[in-house]
Amino acid sequence: MTRKTPNVSRETSEPVRAETFVDTPIAAAAARASEILTPGGTRPLPRPVHPRIITVANQKGGVGKTTTAVNLAAALAIHGLRVLVIDLDPQGNASTALGIDHRQPDISSVYELLLGEATLAEAIQQSPANENLYCVPATLDLAGAEIELVSLVARENRLKNAINPEALGAYGFDYVFIDCPPSLGLLTVNAMVAAREVLIPIQCEYYALEGVGQLLRNIELVQSHLNRDLHVSTVLLTMYDGRTKLADQVSEEVRRHFGDKVLRAVVPRSVKVSEAPGYGMTILDYDPGSRGAMSYVDAAREVAIAGAAGAGSVGGSTSGAQG
Ligand code: ADP
Ligand code: MG
Repeated sequence: MTRKTPNVSRETSEPVRAETFVDTPIAAAAARASEILTPGGTRPLPRPVHPRIITVANQKGGVGKTTTAVNLAAALAIHGLRVLVIDLDPQGNASTALGIDHRQPDISSVYELLLGEATLAEAIQQSPANENLYCVPATLDLAGAEIELVSLVARENRLKNAINPEALGAYGFDYVFIDCPPSLGLLTVNAMVAAREVLIPIQCEYYALEGVGQLLRNIELVQSHLNRDLHVSTVLLTMYDGRTKLADQVSEEVRRHFGDKVLRAVVPRSVKVSEAPGYGMTILDYDPGSRGAMSYVDAAREVAIAGAAGAGSVGGSTSGAQG
């Protein structure tokens, strides 16, 4: 197979500077968003000692995985943290929401990264919204990867190897979010082997916990065979509709099940949240004053603070894996 051109030609790993962001509608929206969401300058969030790699997983489709991955990432980036989103869904919705055109022919993507045909530096792109926010986009090629990976050596470790500490260190990333497809196939396994933490978004709807048992069993399997450090660190309730009793029932049930792993912030069901990706924007840039944007900023703050309290530090105990 032919090697594609790198998305960035970079001799050093110097982060690209802010000048890149002048004069685009997304940049203007982003500037306004920072004014609203981080008034009077950035109130700093704690920076993890080691990059936290968080897989956003739930094999159910439409529960808010992609929305959560991109908006949490954007909320951390707006606070000055360096964040990478790896789009591991062939649909490429995370790439779209981050303003990255993943339909261009010949871009290097997560597909080439997994197959060893591109390095991280070649596959990565900077989001036009924020100089701290990067994405490894997904293209439709990725749909075939699930099968192509089967015959490769170390097929479960491809992503882990591609985002080794040296490759991540060159960019100074604090957070890596991996947006999983709605299945428990080899792509999701690669995400679980590459990460230390799993974040499960749960939609406040009927059958919310359906399939979560299976997800947890898969996490345990990966933990016992492939990645001892993997654990569910975070659960986020999404699409919460305060007018329904059901939303409260689901929320109570999830909190009973997962205890303090469930973030206090809850993402409301909001049309604005679903509109934002259509403009190549996160909700933070699309409507920074909205409850949806605020909820992701609150969630990001909780994630950052929980990480500073120990969950995100590497090389510590694996006690987080219990429960
Ligand atoms: P997944 O990645 O789990 O398939 P998505 O994040 O793509 O789920 O969300 C599924 C759909 O629901 C998308 O159209 C998205 O825009 C929409 N959506 C996500 N979160 C919300 C929300 N809080 N309120 C309203 N719509 C939402
Ligand atoms: Mg998705």
